[in-house]
Amino acid sequence: MAATLIDGKAFAAKVRGQVAEHVARLKEQNGITPGLAVVLVGEDPASQVYVRSKGKQTVEVGMNSYEHKLEADTSEADLLALIDQLNNDASVHGILVQLPLPKHLDEDLVINSIAPEKDVDGFHISNVGLLGTGQKSMVPCTPLGCLMMLRDHHGSLSGMDAVVIGRSNIVGKPMAQLLLGDSCTVTIAHSRTEDLPDVVRRADIVVAAVGRPEMVPGDWIKEGATVIDVGINRIERDGKNVLVGDVDFASAAERAGAITPVPGGVGPMTIACLLANTVTACCRANNLAEPEGLTA
Ligand code: NAD
Repeated sequence: MAATLIDGKAFAAKVRGQVAEHVARLKEQNGITPGLAVVLVGEDPASQVYVRSKGKQTVEVGMNSYEHKLEADTSEADLLALIDQLNNDASVHGILVQLPLPKHLDEDLVINSIAPEKDVDGFHISNVGLLGTGQKSMVPCTPLGCLMMLRDHHGSLSGMDAVVIGRSNIVGKPMAQLLLGDSCTVTIAHSRTEDLPDVVRRADIVVAAVGRPEMVPGDWIKEGATVIDVGINRIERDGKNVLVGDVDFASAAERAGAITPVPGGVGPMTIACLLANTVTACCRANNLAEPEGLTA
């Protein structure tokens, strides 16, 4: 393997350490404990695992964790009433509604009912608009984690040619906005892109966020490029269940300059950035200085 491995697990631990330090300072100097409320509707097994993990890590960095578990048949009115209560609760600085929601609930309506300054997922339409216009916002956690790793590896990203594969609202589009904000020349590729290999081959930075196991082979990667693999795909290999990314790691690592593994790359950064966003939201709510290096 020629490429440098970008170790998301270690990086996430460092980010959590920075968050914990800032939380300790807020408690000591200001008597404030940041609080994150997570709302889970229904019993989707993957969502339950995520919510448990978020709660555990929230407590580990010294913040308050408030978990609200609602029945799968909870009415929209009841969910909105809970969000309203959390919006008005001064001890709650971040609110996250775990997606996907059961089909009878309108996801857009629910997300847009969260107070934008408490929207630590960065999905509220106001935050989307603020990010798109280069203003201070809450930034979606997964792309924020990717940006932090890229900045850490490269220093400045200015002038680099970046290709984001995938145009989802939670990863692809905000990722492209962040790269543009750091003065990259950005292309968003998607399922209708013509000659994707050619588009990817010119990129200094490739962010793959598609959800198709190992769809980007090594020979699409420009020599020395940095590859950030957001994909999390569970496949069966040699009779075992394994996790792979959207990039064929073995062949891509032969050509890339740096690459994130799956697992242990982007994944761990997502919750670390959720904690970072919560401490940022708490500082903004109290007109205090934000922690450095933890926002876009
Ligand atoms: P999505 O399904 O919402 O979007 C996928 C995108 O890929 C679409 O915009 C589509 O246009 C594009 N696409 C589909 N087929 C394509 C093709 N053949 N060529 C080029 N583009 C194609 O998915 P998402 O929510 O953005 O997630 C993408 C992947 O990232 C998934 O594997 C998901 O599990 C993973 N993910 C990981 C994290 C993390 O914390 N690491 C967070 C969110 C998502």
